[in-house]
Amino acid sequence: MSDGGHPVIPVVRYAERIARAAQLTAGARLDACLIGVGADLRYLTGYQAMPLERLTMLVVPARGPAVLIAPRLEVSSARACPAVAGGFLEVVTWDETLDAVALLVERLGAALGLAATGIRRVAVSDRTWATFLLRLQAALPAAAFEVASTITRQQRMAKDADEVALLRLAAAAADRVIGQISHGRLIGRSEAEVSREVRERLVTEGHELAEFAIVGSGPNSASPHHEASGRLIEAGEPVVLDIGGTLDGYTSDTTRTIWVGGGDPALGPDPEFQRLFGVLHEAQAAAVAAVRPGMPCQDLDATARGIITAGGYGPQFFHRLGHGIGLEAHEDPYLVAGNREPLQAGYAFSVEPGIYLEGRYGARLEDIVVCGPVGPLVLNRSPLDLQVVDGR
Ligand code: ZN
Ligand code: ZN
Ligand code: ZN
Repeated sequence: MSDGGHPVIPVVRYAERIARAAQLTAGARLDACLIGVGADLRYLTGYQAMPLERLTMLVVPARGPAVLIAPRLEVSSARACPAVAGGFLEVVTWDETLDAVALLVERLGAALGLAATGIRRVAVSDRTWATFLLRLQAALPAAAFEVASTITRQQRMAKDADEVALLRLAAAAADRVIGQISHGRLIGRSEAEVSREVRERLVTEGHELAEFAIVGSGPNSASPHHEASGRLIEAGEPVVLDIGGTLDGYTSDTTRTIWVGGGDPALGPDPEFQRLFGVLHEAQAAAVAAVRPGMPCQDLDATARGIITAGGYGPQFFHRLGHGIGLEAHEDPYLVAGNREPLQAGYAFSVEPGIYLEGRYGARLEDIVVCGPVGPLVLNRSPLDLQVVDGR
């Protein structure tokens, strides 16, 4: 669905998601799924609640209607979220002097037709603060608690067409920023200055928020999560740009490694870097090409790792191949040795091998890929081969 070409999640989708969560909750023989502030709540209701010491929680009972518990002073923003505004979800507010947890337990008990002591199994969203969990545990003394990601991950991993459209939009915006930075001045500017420019451009190009803007030049390119520093970028060295933000909640995350040539052929990439980059490029392409439903996550990692190891850089690729992406920059599934989970159509994730020669330089290439019905759907479009940029 779209308004003027901009994809939006249709309101009715939230009702479907809550209903599905209830179904999964009942199917898992849980009494309820309790969803605190965070990406799970946003996924199920569209509500981007503020993380506060006051309790906000979506209560999804195994039977009976779901309710959103919210503090009185947050009620107008809670009512504005799609699930509530669409008439699919009731908001129950609590006043400042009231016990919100007691209210929650009362509503849950009523939905289930059980006393608090009759509630035996409850799932709580993974990011729920201990302060709430401990109070819930005290109020539900007979209940065993577990993480709700067993429910929500099944829903969130497989993106629907509207979510893919938003991820694609975010990826395209990040691609434009990569292009702009690659064609701009780099030599003599600090990493931090370029990083600030990246953040501004991410917002200019349509993100509501710039989440990260890694700029690693020269030896700093060998540190995968390098924070932009005061180091001045020089001609004759690589720069790793790993940038991303959120667009309507959906995250972009792309990495390109460029070589700053300063317009001088003598300052082009040396043979070792060319070799390293060639191996990396081949590994990234092979892993992307291997994407298809049924492919175990760890096999994608092994595909890229095999090529990098054969190229002699095995120990220099020391992180997993990638991570799921959606409402969070890092979410399930993780492409890592040991994860045998098979890919399914709609799964969205990064494919981002890197090779890092400590103290010298490194490179990483990262695209966001969606597993399509038969093969990969690559969301990023910026060139993956080594771009030697002028930088002056
Ligand atoms: Zn990362
Ligand atoms: Zn990244
Ligand atoms: Zn990433």
